[in-house]
Amino acid sequence: MKIRQCFVVMLTAWLMSLTFSHVAHAAVEVRDVRLWTAPDHTRVVVDLSRNTTYQVFGLKDPDRVVIDIDNGKLVQQSEILKEADPVIGSVRYGNSESGTLRLVFDVKEKVKLRSFLLKPMKGKPYRIVIDLLRNQDGEEAPVLRANDKRELIVAIDAGHGGEDPGAIGANGLQEKQVTLEVAKKLADIMNKQPGIHAVLTRKGDYFVPLKKRVDLVRKAKADLMISIHADAVRTRTVKGASVYTLSEQGATPSKIAAALAAKENAADAIGGVMQDETVDNPTVRNILGDMAKRDSLNSAQMFAGNIIAELEKVGDIKYKDSKRARFVVLGALEVPSVLIELDYISNPAQERKLRNSAHQQKLATAIYQASVSFLERMGMIKGKMVAKSNE
Ligand SMILES: [Zn+2]
Repeated sequence: MKIRQCFVVMLTAWLMSLTFSHVAHAAVEVRDVRLWTAPDHTRVVVDLSRNTTYQVFGLKDPDRVVIDIDNGKLVQQSEILKEADPVIGSVRYGNSESGTLRLVFDVKEKVKLRSFLLKPMKGKPYRIVIDLLRNQDGEEAPVLRANDKRELIVAIDAGHGGEDPGAIGANGLQEKQVTLEVAKKLADIMNKQPGIHAVLTRKGDYFVPLKKRVDLVRKAKADLMISIHADAVRTRTVKGASVYTLSEQGATPSKIAAALAAKENAADAIGGVMQDETVDNPTVRNILGDMAKRDSLNSAQMFAGNIIAELEKVGDIKYKDSKRARFVVLGALEVPSVLIELDYISNPAQERKLRNSAHQQKLATAIYQASVSFLERMGMIKGKMVAKSNE
């Protein structure tokens, strides 16, 4: 009996050593390399078959960025750099004798580097993220009109982007595409109105961390903040828009709203942020007294009511009343902020609508009308402002 046990232990040890040596020697497959171009940086994302060690550094004459991946092997001669990028010129790669895969990115301007490894998440593999940070920042300065009378500023936040597609429809439409289209259309309508200026927190297909979105809203000194999303659930027949505001610490939001907030707040983990870019508590940077805070939250709820009333005219509504939850992106407490789920992208019929430019325009116009009604109610603008047609 003893001999048999001993044999089993030895066999197990031998099998384990085989497994480990196999893992140690198998190449790390580099399955894809993606680029996301933001105004202030370009992000390179490298998909790996498993965890490994790597080095990222810059070299001069000519300026280039090097990524060394230990034991790496490029399996897909991926179509790196099909699109033009303002920072990266060309890409080369090759393996050294020691088995290190070297990716070399020629850069057109001086950049600062930062990189981090993302663990597998939501179907995405281990990823090395390298940000090439540009010197100029792509942010807008607060707008002053010629007569020094400040314009009303509306921050429009297109949810998700870049590595984070958001919800995905049955026929492949990505939430990040819809949110950007509607956000841009809404900004266009707003910017045609004298006295109103729209600021977009995201202008293209790249990821913006939730904390940075909140910072952009604050920096723009926004009077209103509108975050645009589209939801997905398993039941494909579910449809309709819903609108949310921030709930205070201690408030008891509905379970459904809390689950939605958790889903939206996961954007950072999927899109990829460094530790210092994350926020876990939207009320941490509370710069308002209790009265002002309550006032701002009440205003946001009033604004949310206006939006539901307008969206009801152009489509389906999921909940007649706005709901509250702890959405990180609504963290600029001093700015009346709402988060809109335009519809359910998981419903194929609604997905088709959300893809349609004319329907997107209707949604944007409805949100614009609600914004105007709200600003009028708050006494911030006078006289009726009707959306100017796009023609
Ligand atoms: Zn979303």
